[in-house]
Amino acid sequence: MTDPADPETAVERLLKAQIASTGPLSVADFMALALAHPEHGYYATRDPLGAAGDFITAPEISQMFGEMIGLWLATVWQEAGGGPVRLIELGPGRGTLMADALRAAQTTGLPDAAEVWLVETSPALRAEQAKRVPHAQWAESLTAVPDGPMLLVANEFLDALPVRQFIASDRGWHERLLGLGPEGELAWGHSAPLPGEAGAGDWAEKSPAVEAVTDEIARRLSGSGGAALLIDYGYTRPRPPGPTLQAVRGHRKVDPLSRPGETDLTWLIDFTDLAGRFEGLRCAETAQGSFMASLGIGQRASRLAESDPGRANAIASELERLTDAAAMGTLFRVLGVASPDIPSLPGFPES
Ligand code: SAH
Repeated sequence: MTDPADPETAVERLLKAQIASTGPLSVADFMALALAHPEHGYYATRDPLGAAGDFITAPEISQMFGEMIGLWLATVWQEAGGGPVRLIELGPGRGTLMADALRAAQTTGLPDAAEVWLVETSPALRAEQAKRVPHAQWAESLTAVPDGPMLLVANEFLDALPVRQFIASDRGWHERLLGLGPEGELAWGHSAPLPGEAGAGDWAEKSPAVEAVTDEIARRLSGSGGAALLIDYGYTRPRPPGPTLQAVRGHRKVDPLSRPGETDLTWLIDFTDLAGRFEGLRCAETAQGSFMASLGIGQRASRLAESDPGRANAIASELERLTDAAAMGTLFRVLGVASPDIPSLPGFPES
């Protein structure tokens, strides 16, 4: 945990030792160590969503978020015939989304038909999830969950996976690398030019980890059927200029190199690229605000406010945070994917 008297974090010491012995690290190697080191990594050592946490996510803002997802999952499950299914969440955080989704879907029979699997590497977060989602099973990765029909959801999971970054000069692409500066401090640099068409000043980002997990989702949906909902902070092309890696600690943006292992790191998901990875499957994409609105979050908010008038103002502001363009409504995007036997994807325009 944070020791203000210690100028260097354990992860920082590990990074420096590794760079000194094997050379500069890619941004992806840096992220993997800072976020996922089994002993000192950010996610391994804390609940970043807790009361004294670093950031807040949609399911932690309001129960309505998970409820709408529960209704989506139940509708798609019924359209697929309502048989036995694995309900899988990647990176479930505190387990709030899954708990709210299962409660909202209670009357549909989905919770009884589903075997719930939570894909989580962090022991601290697994303990939180166990409090809210009884009868779940855990796996370290999606590949460790048995094959078969599935309904999968992931909220702010992909943006926590390691990403490589590239910047272009008039000599070609250069990978952004983390090395050591003159005083032995962590310092950004870049590789020798790599072949490839580039306009000087362009940035590119590529995540082999995201590609591996999306390919696995596509393989499962094509082979055994089902649907997936991927929700994240991101964009459709054209990509925003510059690198998108950002760091947050104590609800503030900080330098990505500050206190590694004690700082959350995320980047923006390219939803145009993501959608292109699900060839042969039904696929649709939209903004979080319009997705939630078309699933009926407005009506749900009214009903909640009627049954608890003392919270009416709080509910209105939760609704606004989740759906308003100035808050999470357009910055967060939703990709729905389903096997072709599922006739339509609720919540998306024209699917
Ligand atoms: N979905 C939750 C939490 C988002 S934070 C919410 O919306 O509140 C990211 C989550 O992904 C955490 O649960 C973190 O522990 C998990 N995570 C990060 N990298 C992971 C990996 N490689 N494998 C499995 N889980 C991972």
